[in-house]
Amino acid sequence: TRIRSSSKRCAVVGGSGFLGRHLVEKLVEKGYSVSVFDIRQSYELPGVTFHQGDLCNKQDLLVALRDVSLVFHCASPAPSSDDQALFQRVNVEGTRTVIQACQEAGVQKLVLTSSASVVFEGTDIKNGEEDLPYAKKPIDYYTQTKIQQEKLVLQACNKEKGFLTVAIRPHGIFGPRDPQLVPILVDTARRGKMKFIIGDGSNLVDFTFVENVVHGHVLAAEYLKPDSPLCGKAYHITNDEPIRF
Ligand code: NAD
Repeated sequence: TRIRSSSKRCAVVGGSGFLGRHLVEKLVEKGYSVSVFDIRQSYELPGVTFHQGDLCNKQDLLVALRDVSLVFHCASPAPSSDDQALFQRVNVEGTRTVIQACQEAGVQKLVLTSSASVVFEGTDIKNGEEDLPYAKKPIDYYTQTKIQQEKLVLQACNKEKGFLTVAIRPHGIFGPRDPQLVPILVDTARRGKMKFIIGDGSNLVDFTFVENVVHGHVLAAEYLKPDSPLCGKAYHITNDEPIRF
């Protein structure tokens, strides 16, 4: 069968970011033509068109989503920001705008990068599965808006309308070009500021290599079909083994 050209066209909202760029590189390698939509452009790559804009602006988004059948949404303000209004505007209102723009542009599939912290209540989770309820008391405002964002995306899934959604929930992501997580940990340790133990030293934390997170996103997109169990669901993504801290 001939693949319609539009089925290999996709957009990555947040494609200039750490995860977004790894995702874009994998999609290009797999033969997709990719539109990146981001407030900043951080690199250039053949096969990739950049659209600079704010995801809160539907008109900006519509330009980037023209002829696109698959959208990945992995944009977010940095979790370390303590700007509550920004989280609310981008993660909640902005995600609503992304969904509307996708529907208006005739996009068929939307894959959201959520976070495993949406089920974290502050107590240990081992081998946690997707049927865990959303945290009633999220650990911070960022997580609160990630919960709202995930609900919006999953509830928008509508087989009759031909608009399918799925969410991927990584915890910590590590790998080349990581701007925040691991470099900050290493720097803090070098400055001698990690000489304390939380708990009894046997706490585990889940870190996933960025290429595995990308792989999870690509699989989710490719298996998201009207008759598949993925529709409107969230999936945790992890390596085989958690890391001992
Ligand atoms: P990142 O900061 O490297 O990338 C986010 C990108 O979003 C940036 O390029 C930024 O410019 C863009 N962006 C922010 N606001 C925007 C707006 N209003 N309009 C358009 N673009 C905007 O972050 P990342 O680590 O690549 O995270 C990607 C996603 O993964 C986020 O949704 C984050 O919540 C999720 N996540 C990350 C981790 C992690 O450890 N890095 C863990 C769990 C979940």
